[in-house]
Amino acid sequence: MLGVRKTVHGRGSFWVKKKTTKETKGGDEKSGEEALDGERLRKGTDVIKGKRPFAHVVEKAKMETVCQTCFVQCEQLRRPLQRCAGCKALRYCSAACQKADWKDHKPECAALKRISPVVPATFVMFLARILRKMERNTGEMDVLQLHMPGEPSDPQQQRGLFAILEHLRHFLPDAEKHLLKSAYPVLRITSANSFGISGVEGNNLGVGLYDTVSYINHSCAPNCSITFSGVYARVRSVHDLPPNQELTIAYIDPCDPRAKRRAHLKSQFMFDCECSRCERERDDDPLLTLCCPGSGCDQIIKYQLTAPPDDTAFEVTKKCERGHLDDPATFDSWSRKVKRVLGIIGEANKARRPVQGDMASFERLLPPTNYLMHIAYTGVLDQAIGTGQFQEALQWARKVILVYDALNSPMDPLRGIELLRVAKLQALARDGRGFLETIQKAVDVIRLTHGEDSVVYQQVLALH
Ligand SMILES: [Zn+2]
Ligand SMILES: [Zn+2]
Ligand SMILES: [Zn+2]
Ligand SMILES: [Zn+2]
Repeated sequence: MLGVRKTVHGRGSFWVKKKTTKETKGGDEKSGEEALDGERLRKGTDVIKGKRPFAHVVEKAKMETVCQTCFVQCEQLRRPLQRCAGCKALRYCSAACQKADWKDHKPECAALKRISPVVPATFVMFLARILRKMERNTGEMDVLQLHMPGEPSDPQQQRGLFAILEHLRHFLPDAEKHLLKSAYPVLRITSANSFGISGVEGNNLGVGLYDTVSYINHSCAPNCSITFSGVYARVRSVHDLPPNQELTIAYIDPCDPRAKRRAHLKSQFMFDCECSRCERERDDDPLLTLCCPGSGCDQIIKYQLTAPPDDTAFEVTKKCERGHLDDPATFDSWSRKVKRVLGIIGEANKARRPVQGDMASFERLLPPTNYLMHIAYTGVLDQAIGTGQFQEALQWARKVILVYDALNSPMDPLRGIELLRVAKLQALARDGRGFLETIQKAVDVIRLTHGEDSVVYQQVLALH
């Protein structure tokens, strides 16, 4: 059903192959018979299912609340996790999970104890785990066979990689210093091939390196979804796909504008994206939108980022057609205000905290399709839910979704999660009609992106 092909530019490729008598197995996928309708790959087919990572670690900031082995969160368990008595850093949900991790954790535990109470950055722990596992030669995966990206051309990227190596040198005890010898190529391979592992709510919990999944190339408008059940990765087709179609997933947040996506892909995965969406959005990015300041005017002003990833360096590319920004003085004062607000929201988003200030005043300058507002709404939404203000939360949740309409990406797994959240809030607000409409939409998306046997889909059914 699926073919794997190494490519020069990408990490390798996955293709829908024409049916043959002997199916190529690319992973733990279903058999070709089930998946292929004629010669198409039907949407909602598991391309890869239940793929265990070769190595994984919990995000440093989540160590107290996420089980290192199975990634269950303590809020799901409704009880705290057990701490490793040795290093007092890692946590587990059960003795079984601790035992299962011990082979990987034993040398790590000693290393952590040595530098306690300091805990190294997530990626340093991750790299050390991979190097140790490669040395143990577990035969699960040949990491060096994965795509090796080119040398980073940007000196800042290079410095970033060297900083990780420096921290690794500090982290490893003398008995393990020999691992540093092969660390640089493995670091480059790892940073270009690993995936952020997200939880049920779509939040990032950690990082993993997977065989097979790593062969699937990126697109900013992917034809497959990648989701996680604990640490297990799952890839599903979200469109009907013809033979010889390359399968793609998104490595980065598709709700970022083109310039930011490309800057991220270049710095972490070291390639220039050549996807159809990047081509289409070259001169007109649906996420770079501003409101016309003209009284009662509903025109959307378009702009471009001139120094990505800087959120505040911008150039207006399409002014109001009714001439509301033609006067240079009006334009200047409006531009300054916009720059200031982009800065405030951009900083708050970067710090992962809700924006401080009057959302209504920001909304007069930026429409909900602006990528910064999209993230800002998520922040105030979480805050409103946290403080039990469900009516207000519902108002923000409805706005979070609008960006997916602007992108025309109805089958984004995160859209499914957001729809589910709106439905839950509508149920709390006793909006019966709204609820039925939203939950049906959530069913349609999640059935496809996560699969009917997923935890998320079970949550949808429980509400339905
Ligand atoms: Zn566990
Ligand atoms: Zn320990
Ligand atoms: Zn792209
Ligand atoms: Zn106008």
